[in-house]
Amino acid sequence: MGKVLVIGAGGVGSVAVHKMAMNKDIFTDITLASRRLIKCDEIAAAVKDRFGVIIKTAQVDAMDVAATVALIKQTGAELLVNLALPYQDLALMDACLEAGINYMDTANYEPPEKAEFEYSWQWAYQERFKKAGLTAILGSGFDPGVTSIFATWLRKHKFDTIRQIDILDCNGGDNGKAFATNFNPEINIREVTAPVRHWENGQWVTSEAMTTKVAFDFPHVGEKNMYLMYHEELESITTHFPEVECARFWMTFGDAYINHVTVLQNVGMTGIAPVMHDGVEIIPLQFLKALLPDPSELGELTKGKTCIGDIATGAKDGVEKTYYIYNICNHEECYAEVGSQAVAYTTGVPAMIGASQILKGNWAEAGVWNTEQLDPDDFMDMLNAHGLPWQVHELDGPVDF
Ligand code: NDP
Repeated sequence: MGKVLVIGAGGVGSVAVHKMAMNKDIFTDITLASRRLIKCDEIAAAVKDRFGVIIKTAQVDAMDVAATVALIKQTGAELLVNLALPYQDLALMDACLEAGINYMDTANYEPPEKAEFEYSWQWAYQERFKKAGLTAILGSGFDPGVTSIFATWLRKHKFDTIRQIDILDCNGGDNGKAFATNFNPEINIREVTAPVRHWENGQWVTSEAMTTKVAFDFPHVGEKNMYLMYHEELESITTHFPEVECARFWMTFGDAYINHVTVLQNVGMTGIAPVMHDGVEIIPLQFLKALLPDPSELGELTKGKTCIGDIATGAKDGVEKTYYIYNICNHEECYAEVGSQAVAYTTGVPAMIGASQILKGNWAEAGVWNTEQLDPDDFMDMLNAHGLPWQVHELDGPVDF
């Protein structure tokens, strides 16, 4: 059906190209490019071993727009899937505009020197993509991605309006490490240590990171502490669903994780401003990343399940209803299928499905779109068919945490 160029050979990129290779009818030609060719070649060899499918590989610096444009032209790709880091989003959107192809990513742009999470930089591309007749899909991972599509599906099939959305992200897995992050450590720690914002009565309420804690009994996982956090889909959901009065994002962390992050923050190791060390300028958080386990290598060690979903309250025919919609994903089953843990899997599979929506022509309107703005139905069917089955249950009433 179409040629795709995937940028970024990390944990998420590996899962996405494995799943694309399992869907050769949609992804007829796959190229994986990243900063280091060796990482692409290792993934290509694993894909060939598992499924007998050949994917092409290339080296590229995604910050170099001219080099990416040349690679797009060489591959003949009609879609670029950005699974590198948020810092590369704008350069890759520029490259897609210049080469005349569609764009998709899983995380919103962040300037390296400021841990700010907002869509303004990418939404500013709206007119340019519209004028070029090209589509850019922002945030087609799990959160953001599936969590927004869950909200859209509920709004389409279960509600007339939604007034409250809580997104609950639980990783009940254990990798045996004293401290490790589920995905890129630099991006993960920037996110977790950022000031918290949630939407209440039509405005942002701010609080300190890792301070609001609630115990919740997750299906198939059990009781875990979850912490209020800011997450980028809160901005896009409250923008695109203006009737929402309250929107919050919660993520589970064990005590050991919270203690490690608190100590690292207290001693300055999570800082993103450069410091001088022995005459060399270093960024503490990037140095810390070099010491921490690489999440793409934790697959074999990780046991347990994730449970990610939305609890939404709204009205149908004048009657208030509350639904919990979620996916359960098993780390060991993901490893058996594609050699990765569930956090990379729950991001890489929706990346493959979002890319399919573009190549199938389901998400074809020119412009820049967040996933809650798009039709959810085929995406939701594909989740069930490609490893992330979901379930929806009506609850007795709204959550009171
Ligand atoms: P990794 O760090 O494992 O992978 C990132 C890859 O991008 C690496 O291979 C890296 O190269 C490559 N890369 C970095 N900079 C460049 C560059 N300038 N040019 C080319 N390649 C580059 O990260 P993850 O796989 O864990 O995460 C990937 C993305 O997915 C991130 O943006 C993350 O925020 C997002 N994400 C989204 C989630 C969601 O649910 N929406 C959940 C989890 C992650 P090298 O190997 O040389 O470092």
